Amino acid sequence: MNDIKRTENAMIRVWKEMDINEIKKHMLSAGELSANCDNCQQLGIDFMKEPICPNCGTGFKYITFRKKDSKREELFAIGRINKNRPDLIILDYEDIKRACGKSKAQDIFG
Ligand SMILES: [Zn+2]
Repeated sequence: MNDIKRTENAMIRVWKEMDINEIKKHMLSAGELSANCDNCQQLGIDFMKEPICPNCGTGFKYITFRKKDSKREELFAIGRINKNRPDLIILDYEDIKRACGKSKAQDIFG
């Protein structure tokens, strides 16, 4: 039998239980042209280049895109990040928002 392994890369979204507080320490929150450090809220970070925050020094592992106008725009931005920053894990903004809302509610209600 012919058992040659072929690789065929595709963008697959993964669901995984993760610590939102740990994510927020190492996450870039990206807008159109630049990003914020979610750890210290430093603005204007070049998300195509910066491996660490120039202000607080945290290492970036994750990035999320604040809402794009269209799905097409979002997919384009994700494609560019994937190509330029293979070191970053791209997280879905809706997931982050939901998880942050939940952790805030937990802070309030115990
Ligand atoms: Zn920072």
